[in-house]
Amino acid sequence: MPKEKANWSTDAVFRDGRYQTKEIWADSNGQDIHPGIGYWVGGNTKVYGGALFRLREKDFDEVKLHEGISPAWPLKYSDFAPYYDAAEALYQVHGKQGLDPTEPPRHSDYLYPPVSHEPRIAELDKAFQAKGLHPFYLPLSVKLNEKDAFLSECIRCNTCDGFPCFIDAKSDADVNCIRPTMGNANVRLLTEAKVTKLHTSHSGREITTVEAEIKGEKQFFRVMLLSSLAGR
Ligand SMILES: Cc1cc2nc3c(=O)[nH]c(=O)nc-3n(C[C@H](O)[C@H](O)[C@H](O)COP(=O)(O)OP(=O)(O)OC[C@H]3O[C@@H](n4cnc5c(N)ncnc54)[C@H](O)[C@@H]3O)c2cc1C
Repeated sequence: MPKEKANWSTDAVFRDGRYQTKEIWADSNGQDIHPGIGYWVGGNTKVYGGALFRLREKDFDEVKLHEGISPAWPLKYSDFAPYYDAAEALYQVHGKQGLDPTEPPRHSDYLYPPVSHEPRIAELDKAFQAKGLHPFYLPLSVKLNEKDAFLSECIRCNTCDGFPCFIDAKSDADVNCIRPTMGNANVRLLTEAKVTKLHTSHSGREITTVEAEIKGEKQFFRVMLLSSLAGR
């Protein structure tokens, strides 16, 4: 993702679709779709709103949807809960436990305090509470320090959802996950590498080779299976 002033330009981002793929997809009726996604290091988290909700317990059960039945998962929320804890820490998610009536059980409160409301939202929050409703803070992955603004990476600008963060103050898969690995001798990041095929073993259960197109040339990457690494 280029770092440039246009990162924060509404015209560039939304009108011109500067960071959006130019691919045209088709819907089930064959109509053109211009998907609102991009192919960046960090994927779509480069432009996401950073609202990081956990799935709810019932999401893991059988769910009847308009289009059909989503079968129950073999794993449940409780299996994922420790990983949600770790992921929220990794993404510096700010929030407050105990306000959202649909919230699944948590081991402890968020590690970072909730992002305070903008004045108008604070008014609505109060008005909704007065009516007996239960508004709550969005769990947000922004690097905001409201206690000590000098230490805050996030400056609470008026762009976020849909925009790349010009100052890397939104926790995303690039900033929080990929970049910290880049100093390792055994890590090399290949960009502009389009994976075109995944080759599998005879059983079809394991991917053995990744076929990619890099600068118009085919390249093959052998996948080291954990089992073969262990046997080395
Ligand atoms: C504007 C916007 C706002 C959003 N806001 C939120 C939000 O607030 N909260 C939330 O939870 N979610 C949000 N989302 C959704 C969230 O960004 C996605 O659910 C999430 O990024 C999906 O992660 P992923 O790793 O599955 O895929 P992606 O993030 O799409 O990452 C896929 C990666 O694979 C790469 N790739 C794809 N095809 C190939 C190929 N053939 N060869 C090589 N590489 C390839 C892509 O370049 C990309 O790096 C938002 C999305 C958008 C677009």
